[in-house]
Amino acid sequence: MTLRLHNTLSRQLEEFRPLAPPRVTLYTCGPTVWNYAHIGNFRTFVFEDVLRRYLAYRGFEVVHVMNLTDVDDRTINAAKAAGVPLVEHTKPFTRAFFEDRDYLRLVPAHHYPAATGFIPQMVALVSRLLERGVAYRGADGSVYFGIERFPSYGRLSRIDTREIKVGARVSSDEYAKEDARDFALWKAAKPEDEAVGAAWDAPFGRGRPGWHLECSAMSQHYLGDTLDIHCGAVDLIFPHHEDEIAQSEAASGKPFARHWLHGEFLMIRGTKMSKRYGNFLTARDLREQGVEPAAVRYLFGQTHYRKQLDWSDEALEGAAAAVRRLGEFRERLAKAPAGGSAEWGEPVAVLERRFVEAMDDDLNVPGALGALMDFVREGNAVLDRTGAVPVSALAAFDRITVVLQVVPAAGGAGDLDAEVRSLAEERQRHRRERDWARADEIRNILLDKGFDVRDTKDGGYELRRVSTPRSAT
Ligand code: AMP
Ligand code: ZN
Repeated sequence: MTLRLHNTLSRQLEEFRPLAPPRVTLYTCGPTVWNYAHIGNFRTFVFEDVLRRYLAYRGFEVVHVMNLTDVDDRTINAAKAAGVPLVEHTKPFTRAFFEDRDYLRLVPAHHYPAATGFIPQMVALVSRLLERGVAYRGADGSVYFGIERFPSYGRLSRIDTREIKVGARVSSDEYAKEDARDFALWKAAKPEDEAVGAAWDAPFGRGRPGWHLECSAMSQHYLGDTLDIHCGAVDLIFPHHEDEIAQSEAASGKPFARHWLHGEFLMIRGTKMSKRYGNFLTARDLREQGVEPAAVRYLFGQTHYRKQLDWSDEALEGAAAAVRRLGEFRERLAKAPAGGSAEWGEPVAVLERRFVEAMDDDLNVPGALGALMDFVREGNAVLDRTGAVPVSALAAFDRITVVLQVVPAAGGAGDLDAEVRSLAEERQRHRRERDWARADEIRNILLDKGFDVRDTKDGGYELRRVSTPRSAT
């Protein structure tokens, strides 16, 4: 059996084969940290989390990078409105994003590069594109990518370049460009940018990066010229991902990403959930209302990632009831005495087979949840008869629910708590800043809490539970 994933490039299901198995390089476009992320954003991040966890279940070793967009029109305007420098405005929202990530039980990416931390790499990329003659300096001092000079432009979105309208996120001063369809790589500094500290010197003029540039520069930095998988929601196909491809491939001469996965929108009463429409809910709203995160993940899982999903209170209630059943069932499994292997063999085998079949079919999570609920029904009946369960049944249940994260934490598949993760993230940050003393201090705090943090070869880290917290000895 092989894992098949829909590839936006071919508009077909394709067998997934990474470039250098078992390693899989995964790049997912992250949040713009101008404000709190809404649960529409998190529908996309949860789909990416299930993908990542399923790849691990399948034996792949995933290296995951998610960028944080901390310089663009929205962050600059928000900082200006708040009357604070850009970095000061985005910092609390970045922290809030990590808290929301932990609440919704997303595995932390190995790297969270922020755009403002990669200005030199972005400047180098623009210089390269200028050298190669695919970019040019406009009359307004900004640098543009000339899409006429990159013949395969439009291949991902299948957009006919002649039809591209003067679109979103392109500089409004169209006279500066050779062609209205060209997009900005580097935007000449404006007084508003300077006012919030969002301008940097570059050989081609003081300014700030265009939005698409960061993903090309940062994915190349961590994962090389060619990625295995690149994800986002469908609204990123054009222009964001199309422009990422143009920048990266024009610079490297190599294919940028081999598999493109795009998730559909979370809707609310038939309209896309969006800050702009005011019809949004944030993860913190849910947390404050005491909503069980497993229920949110169950609700998301009931619709395939390539279909639109309408959020409703009734659907959430249904999902909450389902995850309560899952939690009770797991508790029953954990408490029952060992035994009954003969009776359990068949249902466990069926569960695992159906789970893999469903997930291999372009991450059919609704099918996987169906298999899980059938197992609960059958497992309860077997338990009524035999009163016993073999360890292998609980292990199979946990292997699957680790991927889906639909069991409430109390009876659940054990995830690291939020505080431990954010400490580990903080330690990473100090390491990046070469503040070894602070990094070691946090390492000791983690040990006191019963966690050992180890650095991995790819520059990420791993957390392991040590048997006894040091503070308890
Ligand atoms: P942003 O913070 O606006 O850069 O968006 C972060 C991610 O959320 C991107 O991948 C967007 O495409 C995605 N996104 C935005 N709105 C929705 C929505 N209503 N449903 C699903 N994903 C969304
Ligand atoms: Zn991106």
